[in-house]
Amino acid sequence: MRPRSSAPRRGTPTPPRPPARPPSLRTGPRSTSSASAFSGRIAVLTSHGPMAHLSLYRKWRPQSFDDVVGQEPVTRTLRSAIASGRVAHAYLFSGHRGTGKTTTARILAKALNCERGPTPDPCNACEACRAIADGFSMDVIELDAASNRGIDEIREIRERVRLAPASGRYKVYILDEAHMLTTEAENALLKTLEEPPPHVVFVLVTTEPHRLPATILSRCQRFEFRRIPTAQVVERLRRIAEREGLSVSPGALHRIARAADGALRDAESVLDQLAASVAGPISEADVVRLLGLLEDEVVDALTEAVRTQDAATALRVASDLVEGGRDVRAVLRRLLGHFRDLLVLRVAQDPRGLVDAPEDRYPHLAEQARGFAPEALLRALSLLSAAEGEARWSAHPRLALELALLRLARPDLDPGLEGLRARVERLEQRLKTPQSPPRPEPAPPAPQPTSLGVDPPVSLEQAAARWPRVLEEVKAKRAYTFALLAEGQPAAVEAGRLVVRFPPGSEFALRTLEDPRHRGLVEHAVRAVLGSELRVQFVAPDGPASPPAAPRDPLVEQATHLLGPAVAFRPLDPEERS
Ligand SMILES: [Zn+2]
Repeated sequence: MRPRSSAPRRGTPTPPRPPARPPSLRTGPRSTSSASAFSGRIAVLTSHGPMAHLSLYRKWRPQSFDDVVGQEPVTRTLRSAIASGRVAHAYLFSGHRGTGKTTTARILAKALNCERGPTPDPCNACEACRAIADGFSMDVIELDAASNRGIDEIREIRERVRLAPASGRYKVYILDEAHMLTTEAENALLKTLEEPPPHVVFVLVTTEPHRLPATILSRCQRFEFRRIPTAQVVERLRRIAEREGLSVSPGALHRIARAADGALRDAESVLDQLAASVAGPISEADVVRLLGLLEDEVVDALTEAVRTQDAATALRVASDLVEGGRDVRAVLRRLLGHFRDLLVLRVAQDPRGLVDAPEDRYPHLAEQARGFAPEALLRALSLLSAAEGEARWSAHPRLALELALLRLARPDLDPGLEGLRARVERLEQRLKTPQSPPRPEPAPPAPQPTSLGVDPPVSLEQAAARWPRVLEEVKAKRAYTFALLAEGQPAAVEAGRLVVRFPPGSEFALRTLEDPRHRGLVEHAVRAVLGSELRVQFVAPDGPASPPAAPRDPLVEQATHLLGPAVAFRPLDPEERS
């Protein structure tokens, strides 16, 4: 038997042993899976006795049900059960890590054993309350199933539960990480749960209730601890900082809370670490640096690259991050959170309380969100979420990030239905808002079309002078088309055509640019910059100027005019016609 804290003889208090599992500070939100539970730790905080630094989360650990943050449904039900004497023999506290499960179990133990109880409001002053709070109580036995997995330990419990409590009314067994028990130990525990002595209360604590057998689950009254909402974590941190005399900026508190992902204990550990390492007021930049978080500017740059289909920029930013030592999964999680916020802002009437970002960023984020159709944001979430899962197991997590960004920025590369849908949605978006193109620019110094609809003539000099702006326009729309076009130069303007000449060795670019998607995009840019409806002809150097392309099908012309150049028309294969 290796209980977490030994019970010394009464009257000879000794300092508590270091806990079996020291609280750890993590680089960011962690999954609940035990496989990753201890990865990414950047510091360990632990108390080694009364003289050592007492971590904030221990110091400010809630001592009453009312102090527990963000778990009102749980504490309300427990309070009323205690008040009415309907206490169960076995409870299962499940939920995300760091959300107050073990803390609540200890408060329950105090409520049951307080000398002025049982009471929903333990006094925290009597000997029983103090012993439980300090971990000295002989009637509250905390076990860590991860290290007490064997059948012998559970057998010992089975024998000891027959004994009456040492001083209190109840013996309370708190079994942490209950899903880690071996099958034999589970069976032994089950036998105890089947015929529990009247003075015993079991509290099984787990982050993974699905790993417990149904036979045990069915004998427990179950409470689900939810992730603590960011706003409540912020408020709790603010109060702790105030009482500790720490100066922490609101932005910093928000950053800590968001990174903790609903785990108050993690948030408190981060605040602790900052208090120890930062001299003077704690700023948002301190948090970003300590946790290796993604700066808002980086997230904005990636979002903008996705919106403008600028895959090259997206990949460059990703490469900088990975080479700068950022954790790929942390990057993906941050992007996930960001796109989730954008979706909420895009669809919710009143996003307050639903968006994790601080409120002063709402206007900026709302502006970003308007650049996407809701369906596009959903697609982004599903792609990023899949990539995050992939990065967890992949030997090449970087590839997962890059592929996700590529597919986000270039839905036209995505062969699936989702990609097709994304293309259609972009088109619809464009049709709905003809007056506000995605990238607003000052009106080009180009001649405006006359009211008669006849384009003014454009000279070769004008075309050559404004060619760089055409290239920019193309680049903003699609980096690949820009790469193909970059070597070309206007060579002539004749008969409603702009002839663009390419240097030797440009056969591939010439051939590829004939694809209606590229050609359409270039012609669209020419029209936008030069203000003239010119056909573009791509020609090889010194070669005989190829004849102007055959006039297009009038139906295609009309459709292109209506839908814009981004839609691709190609002749149907004979098989497809039937
Ligand atoms: Zn008491």
